[in-house]
Amino acid sequence: MAVLSEHPAPASSHPQATSPHPIELDQLSHNYGTRQALDHLSFTVRPAEIFGLLGPNGSGKTTLFRILSTLMVPTGGHSRILGFDAATEPNRVRQQIGIVFQARSVDIKLTVQENLVHQGHLYGLSGSKLKARVREVLGRVALADRANDAVETLSGGMQRRVELAKGMIHSPSVLLLDEPSTGLDPGARRDLWQYLRMLRDEEGISILVTTHLMEEAEHCDRLAILSTGKLVGLGSPLELKSSIGGDMVIFEAKNDDAAQELSLRIRQRFRDTGPSVIGSTVRIERQQGHRFLTEVVEAFPGQIEGVSVSKPSLEDVFIQRTGHRFWTETQTTEEGK
Ligand code: ADP
Ligand code: MG
Repeated sequence: MAVLSEHPAPASSHPQATSPHPIELDQLSHNYGTRQALDHLSFTVRPAEIFGLLGPNGSGKTTLFRILSTLMVPTGGHSRILGFDAATEPNRVRQQIGIVFQARSVDIKLTVQENLVHQGHLYGLSGSKLKARVREVLGRVALADRANDAVETLSGGMQRRVELAKGMIHSPSVLLLDEPSTGLDPGARRDLWQYLRMLRDEEGISILVTTHLMEEAEHCDRLAILSTGKLVGLGSPLELKSSIGGDMVIFEAKNDDAAQELSLRIRQRFRDTGPSVIGSTVRIERQQGHRFLTEVVEAFPGQIEGVSVSKPSLEDVFIQRTGHRFWTETQTTEEGK
C-alpha cells in the first residue's frame, strides 16, 4: 500500500478530462496480503447523481473510498475520476474531488471560517476569491451566521456540515463521503441528506456516499451493493427492489430444521418457487403474495408459526443476491477466517 502525500496540489488549472464519467471503476481489485477486500469491481457514476455504496461492515467500502481519494493504490485494475487515473495521476484527481472522511478533520478550536480559509490555501485559493467562496459554501450549508464561531461550539450536525463545506471549498466536480451520517441523530441525518441533494442540484456535482444503512441507501439515485468486496447489485433503489418478482412472502417455522423441512415441502408442492431459508424463516418471491400465503398455510397446517407479506426491501435484494442476511455477514466472515 502506497500512502501518498496528504496535501493536494493547487487547483491552478483544471485540465480537460478525457472521459465523461465522474467516476469509473474498471476491474478494480485490492488485496491486503491474502485477503481480497475488493474483487474486480466495474461500474460508473454519472454526472450530478448521488451514488451510494451500500454494504455491511467489512464489505470494502472504506477500501474503495481510500483508493478513489488517492490515499491508497489498488493492487489491480483502475479507478478514474473524470478520466484521470487515481493511482497514476493523483494530483489531477485531487483537484477534482472533495473528500469528507468518517472521522472529524476540522480543527475544533478554530472558527468555522478559519478552517475553511486554511483549507482554501491548501488548494491555492486566496484573497477576495477565497473569501467569496467561503461565504458561498457557508451559505449552501446554512452556516453563514456561524462563520466566526469556534467549531467546538456547534452541534454535531453543524460540525458535519462544516466538513461538507470544507470538502466543497475548491469547487470539486466529485464529492466523496465515507459513512457521513455516523454519529448523527435522525434530524441531523435528514438535514445532511437535504444538503447533499442541494449540492447535487445547485453545484451539479456527483456525490459518492458509502453507507451500511438501508434507509440511507434509499435516498441515493443509484446504488452499488457490495458483499465481501464483490458487486452484487447495481441500479436505483427502485430498480433493485423491482428485480425481485412481486411480493416477499415470509413464513416463520418452529426452528431452523423445521424451516428446511417446510421449504422442501413448499418446493415439492408449488414447483415454480425457489424458497430461500434463513434461520427459521422461509422466504419466497411471488406475484400476488397474499393469495399464495393462504394456499401455503392451508396446505401445511400446524407447520407455520407466523407469516408476512411485504414489498421487497433492499435487504431482500441483498439476501436474494448473496443468500445471506446483511447483518450476519461480518460474523460469517469472521467465522470463516
Ligand atoms: P468497510 O468499510 O465496508 O467496513 P473495509 O474496506 O474497511 O470495509 O474492509 C474490507 C476488508 O478489508 C475487511 O475484511 C477488513 O478487515 C480488511 N481490511 C481493511 N483494512 C485493512 C488493512 N489495513 N489491513 C488488512 N486488512 C484490512
Ligand atoms: Mg468503512
